[in-house]
Amino acid sequence: MIRTRFAPSPTGYLHIGGVRTALFSWLYARKMGGEFILRIEDTDLERSTQESVNAILEGMTWLGLDYDKGPFYQTHHFERYKAVIQQLLDQGDAYYCYASPEELDAMREQQRANNEKPRYDGRYRDFTGTPPAGVKPVIRFKNPLDGEVVIDDMVKGKVTIKNTEIDDLVIARSDGTPTYNLSVVVDDWDMGISHVIRGDDHLNNTPRQINILKALGAPIPKYAHIPMVLGPDGARLSKRHGAVSVLQYKEEGYLPEALLNYLVRLGWSHGDQEIFSIDEMVSAFDLDSVNAAPSTFNDEKCVWVNQQHIQNAPADHIARHLSHFMTERGCDLSQGPALEKVTDLLRERAKTLIDMADSALYFYQDFEQFDADAAKKHLRPVAAEPLSLVLQKLAALDSWQTESIHQAIEESASELEIGMGKVGMPLRVAITGGGQSPSIDATAALIGKERCLIRLQMALDFIAARAQG
Ligand code: GLU
Repeated sequence: MIRTRFAPSPTGYLHIGGVRTALFSWLYARKMGGEFILRIEDTDLERSTQESVNAILEGMTWLGLDYDKGPFYQTHHFERYKAVIQQLLDQGDAYYCYASPEELDAMREQQRANNEKPRYDGRYRDFTGTPPAGVKPVIRFKNPLDGEVVIDDMVKGKVTIKNTEIDDLVIARSDGTPTYNLSVVVDDWDMGISHVIRGDDHLNNTPRQINILKALGAPIPKYAHIPMVLGPDGARLSKRHGAVSVLQYKEEGYLPEALLNYLVRLGWSHGDQEIFSIDEMVSAFDLDSVNAAPSTFNDEKCVWVNQQHIQNAPADHIARHLSHFMTERGCDLSQGPALEKVTDLLRERAKTLIDMADSALYFYQDFEQFDADAAKKHLRPVAAEPLSLVLQKLAALDSWQTESIHQAIEESASELEIGMGKVGMPLRVAITGGGQSPSIDATAALIGKERCLIRLQMALDFIAARAQG
């Protein structure tokens, strides 16, 4: 059974780099018909917060990265980690180390002075004497002294590390709590993880984890280390570069599948295809084609991908995500047309759901004022005649449809022997409040007859008041 996991530490928001790792793990599991597990690595009690756990869960839900098992919490597994640590002690693969922090500092200082790489020198590895008084020991893993670890990484290729390069790592702190490498190993083993797909910042932990797994007689999973996401300046993507929390993308009006589409293309390609639906990503995804070099995040491209999805996604899907922004703007969606219809009208010009929500307000909310610039330009005394004529014709319509509205505008223009725009533009400002909207007949059709007539009268009153100065 193929089983992958996403194992975030809840010490901050769910960031873009993390999401890409989660996505690759999720895609691989889905593609292979396997399982995807969510595991919250909360053993660092000081830095882990419930707020961050919530942000991770909310982010995963918004993105639609569903997990078959979990969320599991490492803090619920402490007994199990203790038992494994004890097993390693019992079988002679781990030992107590009594070196105090000061002693370790001095050791490293000395090594640096000798131009050596600072590392634990194994001074308690074969210790049989009386332990120093008053030191609470840590427990270290006895890394093999010779041989090498070969990682056949699915992204990086073959990586070989000599055991002489790896020191004896701490697996339990002096308070008995397990360290990251130990808890990850135990959970990957217990959860039957077949493929560890994670950021390549963990690559140097992998040989250590493999050695612990070997000592435990546990199967070794396959590994795929995903390169980092960089900001435009070449540094690792961070807050400095702007939006990095996934929920910020939600608030900025991205569709979740658009963000995933952008992220999947960051370091992975499938021919020259840029736009993928989720199903297309699942069927085309392949770890072998993940680029081993880091990729650079590009805001403009991300917006472009979002725009493509806004143009092509089913209207009800967009409307579901859009409704959040409409409510946020105080709109009561029951006071206007179906949001799907508004979506279809507005999607062509929208790059984000924010753009769309901002332009959709007049379908649901009345306004008290016209946009000053638009009114100055189009609600002038000369517009009074065309506006009242079109008001008359519109009021008389039995069927309130795009075509009949179009006809009313056309007839008004031809009766007055003026261009369509001389009717259309004042009409636009009158019924939308501003100078920009999709085609005015379709827009009027959706706004509804009653609202349009009231707003037209309001525009005429405005012109009259203006004429009186
Ligand atoms: N908890 C680790 C992190 O957030 C990931 C561990 C792993 O994937 O092995 O960086």
